[in-house]
Amino acid sequence: MADATPLPSLGSQGARPDGGSLWETIINGPVHSRRLGTSLGLNLLPARSKLCTFDCPYCECGFNTPQAARARWPSPDEVAHSLRRALTRLTRLPDWITFAGNGEPTLHPRFAVTVERVLVVRAELAPGSRVGVLSNGLAAARPAVRDALMRLDARMMKLDPGPPERVNGARYDAERLADVYRTLKPYTVQAMVTRGRDWDGASAASLEAWLPLVARADPDVVHLYSLARPPADPTLQNVPRERLAEMAAAIRRTLPRCVVEVF
Ligand code: SF4
Repeated sequence: MADATPLPSLGSQGARPDGGSLWETIINGPVHSRRLGTSLGLNLLPARSKLCTFDCPYCECGFNTPQAARARWPSPDEVAHSLRRALTRLTRLPDWITFAGNGEPTLHPRFAVTVERVLVVRAELAPGSRVGVLSNGLAAARPAVRDALMRLDARMMKLDPGPPERVNGARYDAERLADVYRTLKPYTVQAMVTRGRDWDGASAASLEAWLPLVARADPDVVHLYSLARPPADPTLQNVPRERLAEMAAAIRRTLPRCVVEVF
């Protein structure tokens, strides 16, 4: 989940030889995010593994890996303990505590219980911090996952322009995803706009195909941005801010009540 600048960090991160970098800890950050301000990340993925139901070429974690040998999912209590320790060590509490790490957080087999434990720690130690999630939404139709997502202060759900099998490295039913997103309101669409070797998420054709999906998903907020950190695929290209602003204007015409921000 791209978009973050490291600050003096409680967690540790290691570069992968094949590109990208992985958090080595449950806690990542705090980082300063263009979209969130100060955010303390929670990585729920097994160690040394990048696991996601998408495989976006722009992912700052690199491409997907198998689950590493002897690596396991952290238990809800381990996540809560790590968060508790981090919050007591920070000199300033983060604006956000965000489920985001080496892949898709809702893949955690006990995601709902983990959310419960994290909300308890937040209420006790950081009641002014909001708790959010960065997710690709593919698991959000499952009632337990949806209910857990709805307990959070913010749901930032991925819906990128461009051919899904290229921009997200996965085939999925985008209309069905948009329908699921409507059940998560209020929520934010986070849209990464990039260009590959033979596709362009910022092209007129991509915009024309994407706008009806955004309208169908009916988000309250859309965040548009391009690359800020090295992508998994080094041939990927940034999209200029001027083009992002044009795309934002098109969304505002389609969804006049939606707040659209370019980063
Ligand atoms: S949705 Fe894409 S960017 Fe986010 S973790 Fe998965 S592969 Fe990376």
